[in-house]
Amino acid sequence: MPDLWMPGATRLDVGDHAPTDGGPAKAVAHITWDRNATASSPADLVSYETLQNYFGRNASGMAAAPHILWDPFTGRATQFVPANSRSKSLADTAGGTRTNRAGAVVLQVEALFFPYCRVDGKVYARLADTPCKGWPELLAWIRSWGVPDRWPMGRPVDFTSRRDEAVWETQAGWYAHAHVPENDHQDPGSWPGFATEEAPDLDATQANQLAAIYKAQVPYSGWQYKGTGTTDAWALLNSATSSATAAVKSVAALSTKIDALKAPSLTAEQLAAIATQVAASPTLADRIAELVADKLAARLTD
Ligand SMILES: [Zn+2]
Repeated sequence: MPDLWMPGATRLDVGDHAPTDGGPAKAVAHITWDRNATASSPADLVSYETLQNYFGRNASGMAAAPHILWDPFTGRATQFVPANSRSKSLADTAGGTRTNRAGAVVLQVEALFFPYCRVDGKVYARLADTPCKGWPELLAWIRSWGVPDRWPMGRPVDFTSRRDEAVWETQAGWYAHAHVPENDHQDPGSWPGFATEEAPDLDATQANQLAAIYKAQVPYSGWQYKGTGTTDAWALLNSATSSATAAVKSVAALSTKIDALKAPSLTAEQLAAIATQVAASPTLADRIAELVADKLAARLTD
């Protein structure tokens, strides 16, 4: 079994452990949102100890305690209940999903943050803009409980709420509080990515592969570095790699066919039929145009 208590986190057990309901493993992303600051009126960040005391020792705080309080400015973390217990940061109305228990684990993280908080004289509009210290360790622990690196309802990029109980009940991964059924909160607004120091988004070879794919006009779902959708850089890279492999194979096959046509033995009717086919298929036309360009280039350099 993975660690019930996150390695390196302070343990402040608030008790009242209760089992989860099983199902897709989830993590839920929150910010503590202690102040309503604005760009023109920022406010100092509330202290880590204040939140630690609130969730760990205050009656109303304990009634809404997450698993983990995480300070993205220092990397400190405090854990209030073990991983296999439900925590209590989500609202749960009668009937429907039992939000706090709806998974093999439902690991809830409260990041110590609010928009336009000020730390050491610097103002931070988004959680993702902070140093996100300790995030690799936190992510590693959450992964160890089988929560996949994906956002079934989309990565949070603003404070828009969208909720879908069918998705929530069937899909594992990370959910913004803004995307949990039966809740009305809109946090966290942003969240760090899944790339960590051990697994950078792209190395130089991968970046070159992507550039090559882009140049080749391979039909694929659209590259978005640090994507904002349900698919992140890793998944895009993986699907791009398989698209590229398939494209290389089909172009190679086409190349063989074109080589076989070297002898000028086509009749006018055959040429007309080919032209019609090409005209009907823009993708095919593009590929042929590239191959012809390649062959011309090769001839010019011979
Ligand atoms: Zn929340």
